[in-house]
Amino acid sequence: MTKRIICLFGPQGSGKGTQAKILTAQLHIPHISTGDLFRAAIASRAELGKQVEGILNKGELVSDELTFNLLKERISQNDCKAGFILDGYPRTLTQAQLLDDFMNVDVVIVLEISDAESLKRLTNRRQDSITGAIYNLYTVPKPPKEIERRLIQRADDTAEAIEKRLKKYHQQTEPLFLYYKNKVIRVNGEQSIERVAGDIERALVL
Ligand code: ADP
Repeated sequence: MTKRIICLFGPQGSGKGTQAKILTAQLHIPHISTGDLFRAAIASRAELGKQVEGILNKGELVSDELTFNLLKERISQNDCKAGFILDGYPRTLTQAQLLDDFMNVDVVIVLEISDAESLKRLTNRRQDSITGAIYNLYTVPKPPKEIERRLIQRADDTAEAIEKRLKKYHQQTEPLFLYYKNKVIRVNGEQSIERVAGDIERALVL
């Protein structure tokens, strides 16, 4: 198999994590989310976690250098040899250039949703504090009663932090579509999970 490096772009709540999981199962390559890497560092009380916790909670971006170093370490591991799915990286032009000097991205998938939809999804997003499963209070399936009690909200899913994250996405990440030019595939993210996955699957075989 040739190496496949797939980048998922899309505003907060556009379904990158959900679609990355589906792609991982189909393509047998790992899903790498820089947000998850940072949150794991925070949860394990690692030095890096202490450095970035305040930045994440406010909805700011971690420095390009720190983020790239963390990513580089992850994608240098053995399970990334056949390729990987990037979720949340790159978010700035500098990050895209740093990655390009190291490895070339093959395809960029953009999940398109409006800011209004993003805000609605994120303010209703909850996570099972034990299993990590994600639920949405306004869609199905509803969490079972015993799980409902242990649902938590991500520290940066407050209206204020969401607005800041969306602004950064429009200002700093969207210009990257021009940078990646003909590698970019746009998919309507305001459809069912299955339909979005189907559109991505069709786009990847083209
Ligand atoms: P979202 O895309 O919904 O904002 P993520 O889970 O992808 O959430 O990221 C959470 C936070 O982690 C970001 O708001 C930012 O603080 C940090 N982060 C993740 N990826 C990057 C990146 N590529 N560059 C800088 N900061 C990042």
